[in-house]
Amino acid sequence: MSDKPEKFIDENGLRLDGRQINEIRQMKIKIGVLSRADGSCYLEWGNNKILVAVYGPRELHPRRLQKADSALIRYRYNMAAFSVEDRIRPGPSRRSIEISKVSREAFEPVIMTHLYPGAVIDVFAEVLQADAGTRTAAINAASIALADAGIPMKSLVSACAVGKVDGQLVLDLNKAEDNYGQADLPVAMTQDGEITLLQMDGNLTPEEFKRALEMCKEGCRQIMEMQKEALRNKFADDHLPIEVPDEIVETLDVAATLEDVVEENEGDEVEVDDSSEETVEEDPELESEVEVETGDADEYAAEEPEEADADDDILEVEEESVDLIDGEAGDEDEGVANEGSETREQ
Ligand code: ADP
Repeated sequence: MSDKPEKFIDENGLRLDGRQINEIRQMKIKIGVLSRADGSCYLEWGNNKILVAVYGPRELHPRRLQKADSALIRYRYNMAAFSVEDRIRPGPSRRSIEISKVSREAFEPVIMTHLYPGAVIDVFAEVLQADAGTRTAAINAASIALADAGIPMKSLVSACAVGKVDGQLVLDLNKAEDNYGQADLPVAMTQDGEITLLQMDGNLTPEEFKRALEMCKEGCRQIMEMQKEALRNKFADDHLPIEVPDEIVETLDVAATLEDVVEENEGDEVEVDDSSEETVEEDPELESEVEVETGDADEYAAEEPEEADADDDILEVEEESVDLIDGEAGDEDEGVANEGSETREQ
């Protein structure tokens, strides 16, 4: 470990690495770097180099670990043996277990786990090169990798730390500031500023703590911009994989079927199947339902039983298509395990 510097901030107010006190280190982001993972991200932040792979949602084994009403999130933070000057002993340590736990908790409020009961979402964060702030760097990368995997989240999560050196608060600590500073306050937050991780080493007065949080907030805002920008670039020309819940797919399918019938009946010249023409024209109630339904699929779904009496032919077709969808989604073997890979293929 290098010796403690005499001063951390020079007469011009600049830090040892030339940054202003409220300036974050340069960040580089690459998305989708691992072909086997459902989502991945390589992130450099100053001299930190982090690789994150996300797998899932996939079926959790052994089944006894499954949660009936939501997906389980697992987060593993690991430092490669070669990531620091001294070799790090492979395997979990107290520190890595703690960081894994708090990082998982940083994502639990935002990941919509209720959509995937019985499933697991695995996040593997590998620190390839460490230079202070690795837990926050890994969270920033994990957030992007989760988005890359198409996992529904209420918000991205961004993280950075504020510390204190020479009696001054500084944003995004470098190695010397982290090792010899008077405080270290890593924070993760959502787009709305909801804090999902907050830890603290050292001492800060209440006033300093308040100001430090404000600095973290600004740092996280800047980082989130970079995360979004990277994601926008990645998906600019792609279709965003959107997982539509089955009940909405059913509704849309019913809507599509009826929309076709209405369209066919709109033109005088168009030849249509007699039975459906009669039904649509002779049942003003159905016609008004169809109008409502084409504008608002949810409202129509609520009225579906009435429509069953009105038009058996149409309903038969609908039921078949609904069955088909159910059949696909309900296949136990494929089930949740395939959802992630399906998403990726899109
Ligand atoms: P963070 O990396 O989130 O700031 P710490 O404050 O615990 O976490 O660590 C600060 C820095 O100290 C790390 O980024 C890393 O560069 C270094 N470090 C951490 N653990 C070890 C270790 N076991 N051996 C050598 N250096 C380490």
